Amino acid sequence: MTSTELTEDAVSAYLRQNPHFLASWFVEHADDDTLKTLARKLKQDAISLQASKSPLPPPVEPAPQKQQQQLQQQQQQQPQLRSSHNHLLTVQERSVDGQGDVTEPTSSEQSQSSDSNDRNLQKYTTFSKVSLEVGRNSITSMIFRKYLDGDRTRRASVKKDLDDLRRMSEEELFMELIRDIASELDVSVLCHKILQNVSILTNSDRGSLFLVRGSRDNKYLVSKLFDVTESSTLEQSIHTEANEIVVPFGVGIAGNVALKREPININDVYADPRFNQEVDKKTGYRTHSILSMPILNYEGEVIGVAQIINKITGNHEFTKQDEDLFQKYLTFCGIGITNAQLFEMSVNEFKRNQLLLHLARGIFEEQSNLEKLVQKIMLDAQDLLKCEKCSVYLLEDSFERKIDAQDIMRFTGRFLNRLGTYSRHSNLAVAMQDPSNPRLNEKDSSGPVKLRESPPTKPESVVFSKAFELHEGQIKAPSGLELAQSKHAYIARCTVVEGEPLNIEDLAKDGRFGKGPFTDASGFTSKSVLCMPIHNSERTIIGVTQLINKINGQPFDDNDEHIIEAFSIFTGLGIHNCQMYEHACQLMAKQSVALEVLSYHATASKEEAERFSLETIPTADDYRLYTYDFDDLAMKDDDTIRATIRMFVDANLINTFKIPYETMCRWVCTVKKNYRPVTYHNWRHAFNVCQTMFTMLYTGELRPKFDAVEVFALMAACLCHDLDHRGTNNAFQVKVASPLAMLYSTSVLEHHHFDHCIMILNSEGNNIFQSFPPEEYRRAIKILEHAILSTDLALYFKKRGDFKTLVESGERNFKEEEKKDLLKAMMMTACDVAAITKPWKIQKEIAQLVTAEFFEQGDIEKTKLGQKPIPMMDREKKDELPTMQVGFIDSICTPVYELFAKISDPLRPLNDGCASNRKHWEEMASGNSQDDNTDEQTGK
Ligand SMILES: [Zn+2]
Repeated sequence: MTSTELTEDAVSAYLRQNPHFLASWFVEHADDDTLKTLARKLKQDAISLQASKSPLPPPVEPAPQKQQQQLQQQQQQQPQLRSSHNHLLTVQERSVDGQGDVTEPTSSEQSQSSDSNDRNLQKYTTFSKVSLEVGRNSITSMIFRKYLDGDRTRRASVKKDLDDLRRMSEEELFMELIRDIASELDVSVLCHKILQNVSILTNSDRGSLFLVRGSRDNKYLVSKLFDVTESSTLEQSIHTEANEIVVPFGVGIAGNVALKREPININDVYADPRFNQEVDKKTGYRTHSILSMPILNYEGEVIGVAQIINKITGNHEFTKQDEDLFQKYLTFCGIGITNAQLFEMSVNEFKRNQLLLHLARGIFEEQSNLEKLVQKIMLDAQDLLKCEKCSVYLLEDSFERKIDAQDIMRFTGRFLNRLGTYSRHSNLAVAMQDPSNPRLNEKDSSGPVKLRESPPTKPESVVFSKAFELHEGQIKAPSGLELAQSKHAYIARCTVVEGEPLNIEDLAKDGRFGKGPFTDASGFTSKSVLCMPIHNSERTIIGVTQLINKINGQPFDDNDEHIIEAFSIFTGLGIHNCQMYEHACQLMAKQSVALEVLSYHATASKEEAERFSLETIPTADDYRLYTYDFDDLAMKDDDTIRATIRMFVDANLINTFKIPYETMCRWVCTVKKNYRPVTYHNWRHAFNVCQTMFTMLYTGELRPKFDAVEVFALMAACLCHDLDHRGTNNAFQVKVASPLAMLYSTSVLEHHHFDHCIMILNSEGNNIFQSFPPEEYRRAIKILEHAILSTDLALYFKKRGDFKTLVESGERNFKEEEKKDLLKAMMMTACDVAAITKPWKIQKEIAQLVTAEFFEQGDIEKTKLGQKPIPMMDREKKDELPTMQVGFIDSICTPVYELFAKISDPLRPLNDGCASNRKHWEEMASGNSQDDNTDEQTGK
């Protein structure tokens, strides 16, 4: 072009070759007034044409004659090209197009290539296609991401190409709107477009859109789009929170439409008392006619009001046709707004979930200091709370809640033992005993700290011990005096008394809290207030969260209530957690002191251990330790200790692990000392179980299946497996809710035996595993724990099916960890009930002991609990003992010994002994034997 002289012919020639240039140039460069004039002319032409010719408005452009032909060609091409655009446009193409080089085409673009056609045509594409380019599948997630990132910038509104609009049939327009609704989640863009279209189609000067806001009980309208004209851009029309007009339901024309859900069509608004002339006065615009319509959602609720103003043509009155057309288009607004609201809800929900996650993380990061925790939660939540000021008030005794003794015991008991297990020098325990630790010097709280007797009934009797106020990113803690005088604190006190959330729209108007002014010393004026009680885990109120002045000046709504509720729950949780931690630390300190004292008294003296360590102990054969019919009944207590030491020596454990011999002796003495003198579950039982294990390993030839650590742990487990047994069973502990049952929920006693075993190992001079490297130490403790817990018959019943399947499938090696664990568990049971395999004389005597202990428990149940014991423990059923023994053998003993007999022939004596005793009990049960004389008769 630059080389060509600009003559009229040259320009005409160029325009002929580039039929779209003129229109696109107009759109790009013409000022608003020129466009408006042109548009109006176009419209009138279209209407007259429409009236005279066809139902479809043929698009006519005031083009020079010469161009007429070209234009018609273009119109024919249009639908096809348009549809191809819908599918083919890509983001990249658009960005090229966006450079604006169309107005200064280069020579290569002067050709009528389809490419340049596409590009030029693209100038007319509306934003709906822009959104299509992104691709349906990802648009929601993309917009979602944008919302979350806080990018609320709107797409530049594309100036309406009026010609394009004119050319479109109503159907086409509808189709396009449907596409827009499917992809457009920004309700402003969609509604702006609809209002523009409606204005043009109804020949009205401008339109506005109001959306419904507020809570269910207090709804009002806010202006969203105002004065949308044919040429106004979205940016010009949109109202934000800063300039929005608020119209209560029932006030003015829009307010009445919203309230009555019916359209209002007025020709002369100044004659109508509902019309508010204020806006006209402000803007200088003169309103004559108005058509105002409700926008309904699919449930028929009003979600907005749209209106068009000043009909330009005819007698300047909106007709029935205008109403119908407007209504039709508003259906799309309704769908679009509903979509957008649903979308906003899901964005809010997502944000709330994120907040919750964040708060949850915070709670566990910060549990040592309550004040820090509350401050952290407040700062984390400030963006979401959307208020000018946020306060958290804590009640006087929220720092000292009632201690749940069970919780703490469960927690500390296990924790302390584990602590001792895995770190032999507990820094925490040391710190807890440090007299400079202020927590230790607090008043005694070993008993339950009394919470308020009853909740306060008057705000005046509510005392806050502490408050935090978040204002402009800073947290401050008001003094006691400030709290006493603060009107806000008073409102919070009322929330405590009411125990319910409190949402005040406008303090001054509300009147419940005085006339005001609600302005504090710093000049801060409070208007809207939202209060929510904070509860602890027992649903007792421990504080109040308070939000003041919603940022946009509106009342707090349902969404705010949801967020403050989540915030309050987490504050409550955090406080609870902190308090638990503090009390746990206190109790741990106390317990570790107590434990220290106890373990001093519970361990055998150094002198006693020394005595055994210095003497020569008899051999295993002297004690018959390798035999299945080993009998301890005639042994002295000291000999049981010597025999135990002998087994550990002969198992080569003391050598292998370089155990100081004195430590070994002392540990055995201490273990013995920690068995109570109960009738059956005493030291002798433990000693026998350990001997059976020794025999199963060596005589029974199971030893090669295990390494030295396993053998050591198994034998130690046997010796410790009933430590501190009280002569009553698990069911009894649960029944009387003994402290042990509080401490452990399953395998109550077994857990205690294990923990007691750990306590002994942690006592000075008693750790037989002391020379183990850490890894081996942990492993030994794990095996020990597994073995001791396995003596719970409830677990035996669970596992023995697997064991049976394994053995019957021919498994003999038990190399895999899982299989070996199963084998160990079964060995523990086999050893624990091995009295049933002993020669009849021993068996009968031991059965008497077991029965005696059972009867003792039964007696307590009868006398102290007033309950009827199970037959096994009922003294009155003692004649049924033989029958019960047969049952015991059949259900528990025989199944396990039979399997061991299969595994290894040398283990068969266990099964034989058991079978032989069964016969005896059977005979007694059927009355064929004369009870006491049986053994004499059989010569045993
Ligand atoms: Zn036992």
